[in-house]
Amino acid sequence: MARIRIENVEKDYGALTVLHDCSLEIQNNEFIVLVGPSGSGKTTLLRLIAGLEPISRGDLYFDDTRVNNLDVSDRDIAMVFQNYGLYPHMSVFDNMAFGLRRRGLAKLEINEKVRRTAELMNLQDFLERKPKQLSGGQRQRVALGRAIVRDPEVFLLDEPLSNLDAQLRVQMRSEILRVHRSVDATAVYVTHDQVEAMTMGDRIVVMDNGRIQQVGTPEELYDRPENIFVASFIGTPAMCFLEAKTNGDKLLTDGGDLPLLPDHRERIGEREHVTIGLRPEHLLVGEGRPTVSGVVEVVEMLGAELIVHFTTGSHTLTVRLPRGEKYRPGDQVKFGVTMDQLHFFDRDTGQAL
Ligand code: ADP
Repeated sequence: MARIRIENVEKDYGALTVLHDCSLEIQNNEFIVLVGPSGSGKTTLLRLIAGLEPISRGDLYFDDTRVNNLDVSDRDIAMVFQNYGLYPHMSVFDNMAFGLRRRGLAKLEINEKVRRTAELMNLQDFLERKPKQLSGGQRQRVALGRAIVRDPEVFLLDEPLSNLDAQLRVQMRSEILRVHRSVDATAVYVTHDQVEAMTMGDRIVVMDNGRIQQVGTPEELYDRPENIFVASFIGTPAMCFLEAKTNGDKLLTDGGDLPLLPDHRERIGEREHVTIGLRPEHLLVGEGRPTVSGVVEVVEMLGAELIVHFTTGSHTLTVRLPRGEKYRPGDQVKFGVTMDQLHFFDRDTGQAL
């Protein structure tokens, strides 16, 4: 059992505060992903949970025990890093057995645990090899296996797939989730890749500038981002933004006027200016809807679909279309807007309305 509770945690490096007022509750057995751009504080938060760095302010609990001052070796955690951290002179078996030997487990028990974990990780045929005789994916599996074999309550994973090529990353993602389902442990996973976050996380913690921006399931973050940062960070192609002036019953934009629905009016309130958020799938070809118009800038052919970027005034909007559609840079275009799907943000604070 391990529930992790982070309450108003802050971290200073000298005079610089790199984590501000972070609060988060992670449920037992949950797979939580910390995601954000480089330097947003993900690794620092992970290191505080691990006990590798002291917490400057705030509290950290494992279940109901405050662990701020608990030594890293006394926390029941296992860590997996991007650079594997394997012992090069030891075989796969010995790498995996190392921690168990240090804990003084009997030889038979170590044998049994390592072999069971090797099977789980598909490493049973490589136990005698040294790390340099393995591919990158196999090395990462050994690193994961070495963490799993210890049977910890908490796994902390810091960009574990960054060194792998794209295809292997996709394969390892599902492997990590499969393994997580088969062990009884809480996992905290750091990545800068929002696709990885969306495909792996039970819940995702979006970070920026040392602050937690939003915590939610992938669907919640995609459908109801709480601010412009989360809206633009989650989703590929990204959400686009269009400034609008409100005028009675209309939204006046560079791409044309759009009707202001009663629900929009309620959300926008008295504001005269508002930022509209439009996901690519909220623009459609065809008649019968209010439209935004502009000029095609870039067309990306992705096989099954076409991503078209077009400019309207100072804004670039993106639309996702079936591949049969024909567009060329320079074309004048007009797309229908699914008005009931619009996101609105306060122009000054970036908060969702
Ligand atoms: P991320 O994992 O999201 O890329 P980090 O947690 O590594 O971000 O870093 C967050 C911020 O803290 C960055 O601005 C980084 O420069 C700073 N930082 C991290 N470690 C140290 C350190 N040991 N000393 C000083 N500043 C640090």
